[in-house]
Amino acid sequence: MKLYNTLTRRKEEFVPLEEGKVKMYVCGPTVYNLIHIGNARPMIVFDTVRRYFEYKGYDVNFVSNFTDVDDKIIKKAIEEGVSAEVISKRYIDECKKDMADMNVKPATKHPLATEEICGMVEMIADLIEKGHAYEKNGTVYFRTRSFKDYGKLSHKNLDDLQSGGRSLLVTGEDEKEDSLDFVLWKPKKEGEPAWESPWCEGRPGWHIECSVMSKKYLGSQIDIHAGGEDLVFPHHENEIAQSEAANGKEFAKYWMHNAFLNIDNRKMAKSLGNFRTVREIGEEYDLQVLRFFMLSAHYRSPLNFSADLMEASKNGLERILTAVANLKHLLRAASSESMTEEEKNAFLKTEEFVKAYEAAMEDDFNTADAVASIFDLVKYANTTANAESSKEYLQGLYDLIVNLSDVLGLIVEKEEEILAEDIEALIEERQAARKEKNFKRADEIRDELLEKGIVLEDTREGVKWKKV
Ligand code: AMP
Ligand code: ZN
Repeated sequence: MKLYNTLTRRKEEFVPLEEGKVKMYVCGPTVYNLIHIGNARPMIVFDTVRRYFEYKGYDVNFVSNFTDVDDKIIKKAIEEGVSAEVISKRYIDECKKDMADMNVKPATKHPLATEEICGMVEMIADLIEKGHAYEKNGTVYFRTRSFKDYGKLSHKNLDDLQSGGRSLLVTGEDEKEDSLDFVLWKPKKEGEPAWESPWCEGRPGWHIECSVMSKKYLGSQIDIHAGGEDLVFPHHENEIAQSEAANGKEFAKYWMHNAFLNIDNRKMAKSLGNFRTVREIGEEYDLQVLRFFMLSAHYRSPLNFSADLMEASKNGLERILTAVANLKHLLRAASSESMTEEEKNAFLKTEEFVKAYEAAMEDDFNTADAVASIFDLVKYANTTANAESSKEYLQGLYDLIVNLSDVLGLIVEKEEEILAEDIEALIEERQAARKEKNFKRADEIRDELLEKGIVLEDTREGVKWKKV
């Protein structure tokens, strides 16, 4: 399996640190608002990466944080006259709802920055002890030039950064030894959340949280660290500096970054005011359509959001849903059980589509080509499955399409609504079958209903049913 590593700027063969396991950390959102569909891009992309590793049999430990202490959260809390915690809790809950609606699996662990302050204080103290950080008037800075590999991820040169950095000095940070140094801990301001530390009552800088949470939940070396491409510099560069200076080991082997989701060819961002929330899109479309749209481009290519592309995605997804529904319909009416020799041969051909799908995914997660392979399979199913097909053949095609779609996180089985009157009719048929001692048919009916989430209970007053 090959993936593009931002660190080496090459596609590399994936070799896990520990056989059969993937340790993966994805930088999560800052929670002060509903997430927009730009934020949804890394969620969907890296959830798909995770699902593919799982499909290949890897045990994936997937950690993704919520940044719940930040200037923007504090600002919003002041505006609403509530505590920062009220704001962050609210938007973590909302974010989790959106993730579920986009069929993004919950992480193995979603740590919160505010619950990991102790670990951050420890790592900062360790960095001071090792000479990589220093304190000035309560603020602790990372001594950037003390880490010789600084710039290796973003491929930036320290001297170029230095000349750019001088003019960017923030007021109050002129006490820094060097303009390249960045904040690890800062003193509290009036009305801000704060924690005790050896330096002052205050709060951590943004970068240190990921170094600490990644180490705590995944160990000091991980396989993959990921996020949007705006995080390469300074966030991920600073994470590397902190983690490698503290742990004395390479932090992450592979660094993966998704390109931006744009609108009118500009990055979608809260600060630009050109964003659409996942919630808004969800009012117009099933969020499976949004997921399909995101996966229709390679994750390292910019993707421009437009109503036309969303419509095309809706139609594309519908093609798969229709094929799956047709197979289900044929399955119900199919009379023969096992595949004929001819069908066995026909089924062998589906291997080609699976191979093409896997080859696409293993070439740096080319989901656009993987979707194309599912379309090929759908076309093949539409042309070869018919009323004469055996159950085994139809089920084989059905399972293939559903499973390959599921690896992309696409749900392609439509929930079937069964009407109460149909349930009653089936119950009557079952009673009649039982009277005739046709227990096979009676059991079939019970199983058929169970598949649709209907459970039958034989009571003294007759048969009752309930939905589970
Ligand atoms: P933030 O809440 O801004 O820290 O962003 C959370 C995640 O969303 C990060 O991985 C960002 O890189 C990513 N992100 C934000 N805006 C976009 C966008 N327009 N396109 C793609 N990714 C984005
Ligand atoms: Zn991070």
